[in-house]
Amino acid sequence: MDILLMGPPGAGKGTQGAILSEARGLPKFATGDLLRDAVKRKTPLGLKAKAVIEAGNLVSDDIILGIVREQLAKPEAAKGVIFDGVVRTIPQAEGVERLLAERGRRMEAVLFFDVTDEEILARLNKRRNIEQRADDDPAAVATRLKAYRQQTAPVLDWYEQRNLLRRIPAVGSVEEIAQRARRALEH
Ligand code: ADP
Repeated sequence: MDILLMGPPGAGKGTQGAILSEARGLPKFATGDLLRDAVKRKTPLGLKAKAVIEAGNLVSDDIILGIVREQLAKPEAAKGVIFDGVVRTIPQAEGVERLLAERGRRMEAVLFFDVTDEEILARLNKRRNIEQRADDDPAAVATRLKAYRQQTAPVLDWYEQRNLLRRIPAVGSVEEIAQRARRALEH
C-alpha cells in the first residue's frame, strides 16, 4: 500500500509518518531527510542540492524523481511506502504515478495535514531553537512557505480530482491526529 503525506512545512508529516510506518509495517521515505543527510555527508547529490535547500527552494523534479526511482527499487519498498513530503509539484505527482505504475502499483491515498499559517510559523520557530536546521531561519522559512503555496498547493487539487485526497485537521495532540489519520485510511 502506497500512501502520500502532504502538508505545509511544520504540519507534522514526519511525526505522523513515523507512527503510520510503524503501524503498517511499511518503510517511510522523506525526501527532506534524505536530502539533508546527503548534504551532511557531502555526497555529489548533497553538494548539488545544498544551496537550494538552505535557501528554502525546491530541488529539481529530475533529482527528486531519481531519488524516488532508487527508493522504489529497494527490496523493503516492495509492499508499499509511506511517502513523506515527496511530491511537491505537479510534474513530481505525474512522475511518481508513472514510477508506481511501472511496478503495477498506484497511490492508495493522500493524507493532507492541514494547519493554518499562524500555527506553522509558531511551530517552525520552536523547532529552530531545538533542531538547528539551516532551513528553519526566518528567510528560508518564508521561501519554503511561498514554494509550498505556489508549487505544492496545486498538487492537492491534482489528487482531489483523482479522488485520493483525505484532509486531516492537524492541530491537536499527536495521538488525536494519528487517530484521524488512521480513520481516514479506513475508507
Ligand atoms: P519542509 O516540509 O519542512 O519544508 P522537508 O524536510 O520536508 O521540510 O524538506 C526540506 C527541503 O528539502 C525543502 O525545502 C526542499 O528544498 C527539499 N525537498 C524535499 N522534498 C522535496 C521535493 N519533493 N521536491 C523538491 N524539493 C524537496
